[in-house]
Amino acid sequence: MKYINNIFTIENCSINKVVEKFETPIFCYSQKKIKENISNFKKNFKSFSPIICFSTKSNSNLEILKEIKRNGLGADVVSKGELMIALKAGISSKKIVFSGVGKTRSELIYAIEKNILLINCESKSEILEIERIAKLKKKKVDIGIRLNPNTDAKTLKQISTGKKENKFGINEKTFIEVSRYIKESKFLNLKCLSVHIGSQILDHKPYQKMINVLDKLIKKMDFSFEYIDLGGGMGIDYKKDNKKFDFKKYNQIIKKFLVNHKSKIIFEPGRSIIGNTAILVSKILYIKENSKKDFIILDAAMNDFMRPALYGAKHKIIPLKKINKITNKTYDFVGPICETTDKFLSTTKFQKLNEKDYIIICDVGAYGTSLSSNYNIRPKPAEILIKGSRINVIKKRQKLKDLI
Ligand SMILES: *Cc1c(COP(=O)(O)O)cnc(C)c1O
Repeated sequence: MKYINNIFTIENCSINKVVEKFETPIFCYSQKKIKENISNFKKNFKSFSPIICFSTKSNSNLEILKEIKRNGLGADVVSKGELMIALKAGISSKKIVFSGVGKTRSELIYAIEKNILLINCESKSEILEIERIAKLKKKKVDIGIRLNPNTDAKTLKQISTGKKENKFGINEKTFIEVSRYIKESKFLNLKCLSVHIGSQILDHKPYQKMINVLDKLIKKMDFSFEYIDLGGGMGIDYKKDNKKFDFKKYNQIIKKFLVNHKSKIIFEPGRSIIGNTAILVSKILYIKENSKKDFIILDAAMNDFMRPALYGAKHKIIPLKKINKITNKTYDFVGPICETTDKFLSTTKFQKLNEKDYIIICDVGAYGTSLSSNYNIRPKPAEILIKGSRINVIKKRQKLKDLI
């Protein structure tokens, strides 16, 4: 993804061509980038060849999931809907893990019927519910327990999941208690210890702390887990300041851990696989000049891409067509929705913009379309997958008549 003759281009496809052919806002993915990310992820951990379960909640577009499957990944799902779409994409049930604090009885029944790799449980009550279903079905069900390791992921507080005040996982004391119970059960197989401490983690140190907690706990329990599921959370370079997650260090930390623990590692990456593979192209509807700043009013809004409004996340904005005219005016890039938080970014240095220009919001592949909504009865945008110079529509723009 780069500028060629000052026009933003994905693979061999200029985005100029895209906006001539399609309406905006529109999500554009690069197939090559998806393949590259997966191949790099695998390379980083190739000494212990982990099972990689793509986090379906980060992007649940069926065609994207098919692409993920073709590259050999499994899936991490958090609802029956996600489990269904992962199966529909052709992902083997033996490569699917199911996480989440509130799986319903019908979701658990479905997962048990499909014989998925693991259900990662997050409470004592859930474990008992699974046991009751397994008993009825006369099955022994493979489960994991998600530990809350009380580790600070040093990320945005809204996407931190591994501290004791967060709703996720089971604390150490209860973990030991329920493990004993499961080992005695005729209907449950304790196969996995799982953790997931948060998202957009750029520092390897929280992972080191998390691994230390696991190491101690497993030694204390004197039990060998077939699988250790380390979750996802590896961050990406949204700011483009080269602060990248150090995969080499994380790999070393895990290799050291594996010297004492003969388990298969599972990962559940979302963002690190799909985050930087897509852009959102939007047209400037109006420019409203103000004394202190100009409001750049886009045709994209928080319903299309929610991360800035939901978490205060900052995504780089760049022009579709580069010109050599820089302004020091403050630009506020905002959407048309009736909410003050419907704002993508504030900039103090940008090229001079005009109405009807196009801009690009970067790195929207993860938690982009999967978080989108129909707020203000706005149809969800189209999504295209670029493969070389070919354009495949992988989601049609919703029609108003389907919403009304
Ligand atoms: C969201 C989530 C992930 C994926 O996190 P990323 O930061 O996108 O890698 C993995 N595991 C669980 C349990 C999750 O909830």
